[in-house]
Amino acid sequence: MPLFLVLLAFTACRIAPPTAALQRFEFTEPHMGTLFNITLFAPDAATAERAAKLAFARITKLDRVMTDYDDASELMRLCAQPYGTPVRVSDDLFDILQTSRRFSEMTGGAFDITVGPCVQLWRRARRQRQLPAPEKITTALAAVGWRKVQLDAHHKTVTLLAPEMRLDLGGIAKGYAADKALAVLKKNGISRALVAASGDIAIGEPPPGQPGWRIGIGSIDAAGNSLTKTVLLHNAAVSTSGDTEQFVELGGVRYSHIINPLTGRALTNRIGVTVIAKTATTTDGLETPLSVLGVERGMQLVEAHPELAVLFVTLEGNRKTMLASSRFRKISTSD
Ligand code: ADP
Ligand code: MG
Repeated sequence: MPLFLVLLAFTACRIAPPTAALQRFEFTEPHMGTLFNITLFAPDAATAERAAKLAFARITKLDRVMTDYDDASELMRLCAQPYGTPVRVSDDLFDILQTSRRFSEMTGGAFDITVGPCVQLWRRARRQRQLPAPEKITTALAAVGWRKVQLDAHHKTVTLLAPEMRLDLGGIAKGYAADKALAVLKKNGISRALVAASGDIAIGEPPPGQPGWRIGIGSIDAAGNSLTKTVLLHNAAVSTSGDTEQFVELGGVRYSHIINPLTGRALTNRIGVTVIAKTATTTDGLETPLSVLGVERGMQLVEAHPELAVLFVTLEGNRKTMLASSRFRKISTSD
């Protein structure tokens, strides 16, 4: 079920006069196949531009490490090494691989960056409008499994344990980059800021005189776009996944760009997930596996982690169902 996020303007309820002389600035640049938007408050344009430039530079650097669209990226060079060889990697790459492993453990393998070979098959299926052959999926699955990535934290080395492995950080990279960009802004004296990469938003201190940043969570259906919930956030993050942009419809079935790592198949259930947590790495990393787990098992996982707030939206036939976790119900308001 398609969901989207929007940053809402404040119309009322300033709780205090704005801090003297801070102005709002916005910057947008294309990165990682999407648009990154930085909204920040700074004393003047020069300060704002300098900080935004540094933040975008950090995103560029991370993209060079993590993309699977460039054979020269550090990630792709790692995958090109003969399997079974420990490879020394950069701190950024090691950090995101370690975090990915934590999400794999936490979600019982529903989050799995080793799905790369399957992602490739389904990307081709989208282009050629033809389902992957079952034997191709079986072959691809031999190189899938999060336990096939061995990490040595002491030496900062990574060992891929099977042939033909291909890591894919597409389920977590944008959130991670948004967090790191926000950290760069903060280090440069700008704490009232937000970094958004389409469905993944890292949020710092609130705008001057405001209790938080107002984010609208919308859903798209046959009747058009509608805003369903609003949340007010600071020092937090929110991600939403939908099947709006990347899917292929074959034989009347809609295949998502999210893969179930156990079967190697693209999801066909219509589900949208919005996750709120402390960091965008967490919210981005978790929305993908929560879609794989589905509402029932996903909600069990979420309720076992009280710091998470999650909204599931599913579509069966024409029936849209919304289900919110306890924390989500506490912090959201309906429009
Ligand atoms: P988007 O914001 O583009 O919808 P998501 O954060 O939902 O991206 O992640 C989807 C991407 O994650 C896929 O395009 C693919 O690269 C990767 N992916 C697909 N299935 C999984 C999975 N089960 N675990 C981890 N990553 C996945
Ligand atoms: Mg994700």
